[in-house]
Amino acid sequence: MTVSEAEIEGGCNCGSVRYRVAGAPLAVAVCHCSNCRRQSGSAFSVNIVVRADAMELTGELTTYEDRDTESGAPVLRQFCATCSSPIQSLSAASPKIAIVKAGTADDPARFTPAVHVWTASALPWVEIPAGLPQFERNAP
Ligand SMILES: [Zn+2]
Ligand SMILES: [Zn+2]
Repeated sequence: MTVSEAEIEGGCNCGSVRYRVAGAPLAVAVCHCSNCRRQSGSAFSVNIVVRADAMELTGELTTYEDRDTESGAPVLRQFCATCSSPIQSLSAASPKIAIVKAGTADDPARFTPAVHVWTASALPWVEIPAGLPQFERNAP
């Protein structure tokens, strides 16, 4: 099956969680915040912002309610209950969007980041491409 540019499909390492998003991404952002760094186990996370009501998920997710946020509104970090691949985050402060972890997309090369956020906590060896918008904290 071919996936159109207006759809995103992906899933976890073990295959028990799969998702499909109708519609093109609203944004693709690299987040350098400490919480994304810890959750990913990497230097940053690459996030695809989509409409929450466009996200269709199958499989069992475990949710971690992350309350260490700037706004104080919790962020629900959801990952595969079996293999722990991070799948999406849902913010109580922005209930209409879902933040999908780009590395779980079947075709992650499609999602080139267009903005970097939380650069105040970016690791010193990370090079942000010149010309991309950057925000020290959340994007306004
Ligand atoms: Zn899994
Ligand atoms: Zn983050």
